Amino acid sequence: MNYVGRLAALRESMAQADLSALLVSRPENRRYISGFKADDGALTESSGHLLVTPDQALLLTDFRYQEEAAEEAPGFAVKVYTKGLDKLLAELVPELGLKSIGFEEDYLIFRQVKTLAKELDGVELKPTSDLVADLRIIKEPAEIRAIEDSLALIEEVLDGLFNDLRPGMMEEVAAWRIISGLHERGAGIAFEPIVASGPNGAKPHAVPGSRKIREGETIVMDVGARLEGYRSDITRTAWLGPFSDKFKEVYSVVREAQLTAAEGIKPGMSTEEADALARKVIEKAGYGNAFGHSLGHGVGLETHEPPSVSPLKSSELKPGMIHTIEPGIYLPGWGGVRLEVMAEVTETGCRVLGGLNRFYTF
Ligand code: ZN
Ligand code: ZN
Repeated sequence: MNYVGRLAALRESMAQADLSALLVSRPENRRYISGFKADDGALTESSGHLLVTPDQALLLTDFRYQEEAAEEAPGFAVKVYTKGLDKLLAELVPELGLKSIGFEEDYLIFRQVKTLAKELDGVELKPTSDLVADLRIIKEPAEIRAIEDSLALIEEVLDGLFNDLRPGMMEEVAAWRIISGLHERGAGIAFEPIVASGPNGAKPHAVPGSRKIREGETIVMDVGARLEGYRSDITRTAWLGPFSDKFKEVYSVVREAQLTAAEGIKPGMSTEEADALARKVIEKAGYGNAFGHSLGHGVGLETHEPPSVSPLKSSELKPGMIHTIEPGIYLPGWGGVRLEVMAEVTETGCRVLGGLNRFYTF
């Protein structure tokens, strides 16, 4: 991972935004810039912050994390606070001659900003958004490899579950197979697995429960791994017993929508156009109203990160972006079919990652 290059790129973005110092607090941003891996348990419980200036790279943390901080972020000087971040910053500001500090407006909570404003009297606090996210959106080759490793693991674990699916298995038990399968392989979950059977499949973000899966209904499984910080996110829809005509029809439309998008996506295209590639297939088949979410999202250190492959917030697709392609059709009372793959925007088109396993052809 190119931490030196990332820090240089961040300093360039800071200069463009006229920022002489930036406090990086979101754990994934902190990790991306410095290598420091710690997670925060809650918004009010931070394991540390980076303070970046044109010539300083400091990692501010407390006693609990000082050893990891020094090991994981060798490019940063570790400063340990004993009385909280605000008091340490109050000492550093005059030392570094700072007149203003940028902070991440979509991460720091109001109370923290209020406390900082009180302690750092005379220092301008500047809200910033997406400075690090804009760097993270284009993946380095090493990051793409890390994502592919994470994807290979979840494909293997999901494949095992596919073989073990039986009528009578509780949704929660199926979800547990995913969790335990990943832990047995030294990884974790990217998010709580979704296993939604029968009518539950009509809810895109259903929570697995005690319902037992049956023959002759859809079983939507949306799962992901977290390996060395990098996430994967895939969805397959299973069916036990002889396929019904309805299932064959709905599944074929979703699969065609996915393949159409995978074949058509290329750099320079807007996310709105990419979304429309799949949406048109589903609309033409008469299921337009049953596909109520966007086509996909970026994946990296977070499961959902830019770019959003959506008509709502259109942006340009560029080589090195990793995103999902996940069309779905949800029919209340019946069930749902969602098929999700991960893809890389290349110089010429779109490369679907992973083994493309477990898709039905009728
Ligand atoms: Zn998913
Ligand atoms: Zn997804």
